Amino acid sequence: MLIKEINEIRKVIKEWKKEGLTVGYVPTMGFLHEGHKSLIKRAVKENDRVIVSVFVNPTQFGPNEDYDSYPRDINKDLKLCEKTGANIVFNPNPDEMYFDNRSTTVSVSGLTNVLCGLKRPGHFDGVCLVVSKFFNIITPDRAYFGQKDAQQVAVIKRMVRDLSIDIEIVTCPIIREEDGLAKSSRNTYLSEEERKAALILSKSLLKAKEKLEKGERNPQIVKSIIKDLINSEPLAKIDYVELVDDDSLENIEYIDKNILIAIAVYIGKTRLIDNFTFNIKKRMVF
Ligand code: AMP
Repeated sequence: MLIKEINEIRKVIKEWKKEGLTVGYVPTMGFLHEGHKSLIKRAVKENDRVIVSVFVNPTQFGPNEDYDSYPRDINKDLKLCEKTGANIVFNPNPDEMYFDNRSTTVSVSGLTNVLCGLKRPGHFDGVCLVVSKFFNIITPDRAYFGQKDAQQVAVIKRMVRDLSIDIEIVTCPIIREEDGLAKSSRNTYLSEEERKAALILSKSLLKAKEKLEKGERNPQIVKSIIKDLINSEPLAKIDYVELVDDDSLENIEYIDKNILIAIAVYIGKTRLIDNFTFNIKKRMVF
């Protein structure tokens, strides 16, 4: 079922809560693929009712970013959600979500000044604002996020902790194409040639993973392995390659704790991100 109005969705959720049903929530910007589907599936498994929001959030795009051209297909999204077992697709209008004279910001400091936050000023303020609004509208028991956007997960977890929001944040693994490319709505921007070149992201991370598994503990060496491989691809231009503490997102001098290796790379004009976490105790890579 498609719902567009805040009052309407609130009414439905109130009824569910009266009946004692649990609610799972999956926030998305639409143009849904297998990555989103895995979040919805998990939510369906763990909750009595599931809401998927489809909202291309204007406040998380910079002035020169792709808000207008971001791919949209609400009918296809509705079908995927229905097939996967979601109960409601919430697709509000930006006009109902945002007042012209709004004056409230939700800002998580520290964690947002690194990685994607450096090149996308204001991006995480926009994410935190929209996610808090959806949390307040939907009041779910659990909310599902993809490890694909690792920094987003860290920021949302910090916001939920700091603001005592009573919602369990569930992180789901990255879903990839068969050849390793992380699924993304933005992959549709890639030409055939760029699509091939984009494989350099997952390939370089895989090489770093092998090195870590063999015992390499110097972050600089791991970073340069990734950078060298990406630089060997003529269509690729590095935005960042970082190796950070997986909770604080702070740089580390030596790899003796759980780390996040995160990269952002331009393939032509399209900026793609990918990452993996390395668990030092279990020596496991997700
Ligand atoms: P988006 O529509 O890109 O804002 O993504 C909505 C949610 O889906 C976010 O929590 C993303 O991290 C998650 N997501 C996107 N792509 C993937 C993927 N390939 N694997 C797992 N989760 C994903």
